[in-house]
Parts: sequence; C-alpha cells; structure tokens
Amino acid sequence: MNIAVYPGTFDPFTNGHKDLVQRASSNIFDKIYVCVVEKSNKDTLFTSAERIELAKKSLNGVENVDVVGFNGLLVDYAKKLNASVILRGLRVVSDFEYEFQMSSMNKKLNQNIESIFLTPSESYAFLSSSLVKEIAKLGGDVTPFVSNDVKQALKKKFKQ
Ligand code: ADP
Repeated sequence: MNIAVYPGTFDPFTNGHKDLVQRASSNIFDKIYVCVVEKSNKDTLFTSAERIELAKKSLNGVENVDVVGFNGLLVDYAKKLNASVILRGLRVVSDFEYEFQMSSMNKKLNQNIESIFLTPSESYAFLSSSLVKEIAKLGGDVTPFVSNDVKQALKKKFKQ
C-alpha cells in the first residue's frame, strides 16, 4: 500500500485542499490521511474539532481518504499510520522556503519518509485559507472557494 499523510492547519479546509487530495488519491496514492494539526502555533479561527469536522464534510464522497487530528512529530505519526510519504501543496514561490526547510528537517528526523509536493490546479493557485477568512469577514461570497458546510460555518463565526 502506497500511503501518504497530508498535514496542515486547514483553518478552514478549502476547495484547493480538496483538489490536491482528489488528484493525489485518484492518481498516485492508495490511501491519504488528512492530518489536521490540533495544537497549531497559528491563531486559528476554528477549533481543532471544527477543523476536523469541516475537512470530513468537505471530503464527503472522496474515496481512500481519512481525516485525523494529530499532535506531536509528523514523522512519528506518519510511521504509526504506515505512511511513507508526506504530501504538501506548493502554490507560489513564497511557499518554497518554508516547505524546503520543513522537508529537509523531516528527512533528518526520518530518512524513510519522503516529502512530495503537488502544485494546485490553475483555478486554485491563488487560494488560501487566510484569504477565504478575509473575504468571509468582509461579507464577500466564498461559494467558489469552499464547501457549503465551510461557507455556513464561516457565516456563523463572523456573525458572533
Ligand atoms: P499549514 O498551516 O501547514 O501551511 P494549510 O492548511 O495552510 O496548513 O495548508 C496545508 C497544505 O495545503 C500546505 O502544503 C499548503 O501549501 C497546501 N495548500 C493550501 N492551499 C492550497 C491550494 N489552494 N492549492 C494547493 N495546495 C494548497
């Protein structure tokens, strides 16, 4: 089995994340675990339980994918899941430096786990969770960027 972990904050899960998972699961991997970082060092809008729930709902119907929450070292968690690949997305040049650093460090921590990067489909190249939150906060329409569940959850958050 060719298993990959796809880690992230997913605050919230977007159609860009979904597109990456779909392409990876239908063309490359037998199984993908979307690993939601529970204790993120980023300030998150959604709680970890909400981020997991929204990722699950957004991926409803996509085969060979599980959503799990995790804390601690990713390479250890990947090993526990029998995953040999860390999947990440590379959107723009500015993603590169951080991703390069992370993958080099993960390689040092466990040489048996490779990082693989997919570029987004053209229509999602500009899409990020932060932008989606900004648009929702300002009352813009996020329909093209997230699932209906995420859209409703954003509406609720910004009403509070
Ligand atoms: P993190 O806080 O770990 O960067 P994110 O939830 O922001 O978590 O992103 C998780 C992964 O998904 C990252 O590898 C990121 O580059 C990738 N990603 C985010 N948005 C997109 C998108 N629109 N297209 C492709 N990959 C994306």
